[in-house]
Amino acid sequence: MSSLSKRIQSSLVGLKMPRALEVLDHTLSQLEQGELTALEALDSLLNEEYSTREGRRIGVALTTARLTPIKTLESFDFTFQPSLDRDRIMALAELEFITRNEVVHFLGPPGTGKSHLATALGVAAVKAGKRVYRIALADLIEALAKAEKEGRLTEKLRFFARTSLLIVDEIGYLPITNGGANLFFQLVNAKYEKGSMILTSNRGFAEWGEIFGDRVIATALLDRLLHHAVVIQIEGASYRLRSHADLMPEHVRANASIAPPPPPKRRGRPPKKES
Ligand code: ADP
Ligand code: MG
Repeated sequence: MSSLSKRIQSSLVGLKMPRALEVLDHTLSQLEQGELTALEALDSLLNEEYSTREGRRIGVALTTARLTPIKTLESFDFTFQPSLDRDRIMALAELEFITRNEVVHFLGPPGTGKSHLATALGVAAVKAGKRVYRIALADLIEALAKAEKEGRLTEKLRFFARTSLLIVDEIGYLPITNGGANLFFQLVNAKYEKGSMILTSNRGFAEWGEIFGDRVIATALLDRLLHHAVVIQIEGASYRLRSHADLMPEHVRANASIAPPPPPKRRGRPPKKES
């Protein structure tokens, strides 16, 4: 090896460029054989190092953001969900909504791809170098409640508020206690106009009072979460159940909109007649 090659080698060691170091010999021999121009050789060496690092960074960031298992827009079958405007989703993938600190709501019945789309946008954001975190509402509230008990609530709120994109999944599946609603409100307040959010829910906004067990808090939450917001409603069948459609009861198969919950059972009183 020439003294110049040796110097490149030790520079790569000093610069901590292990992948470039690994491919150095091969690249130099390609250069000698005339298979690569000098410019191409330089590009190939740097690109090997850069793409290896980027790959590793993205892998770590996706795990930290809790975006695994990975979902992508490429793997989303838009033909299965004709109510969904593909162009609108693709425009969201440009990530301008993050820069504008907007809130994106995905609403729809179970299995219609709300979490898939939210995750896919999160993955795109991570690739673009944004700080992302995904969590189900129940887990988020549990984490905040635990932090509060341990006297670390401010710190925890700051952790979630610091993300460029916070994905809160599964709003409406589990009822929220009053303390929980209050904690979520504090988070939304901390995050308001600072960074963006994606929220997914199987319930309409009119039901938030019921979900959060408090109409005043629900109104205050919606006031902030609908201020700079994009609402995407998916009306369609469950992708999970697609191969069992014939076995499903009609009301599940043709789940064309966010069905209101069944009316609460009244004990000891006959149901009111429709007027
Ligand atoms: P939701 O959050 O609305 O209940 P999910 O996003 O979790 O539904 O979707 C359920 C499963 O079906 C996931 O594995 C998801 O990747 C897949 N899925 C849903 N819709 C589609 C679609 N249109 N194309 C491809 N996969 C889909
Ligand atoms: Mg989901």
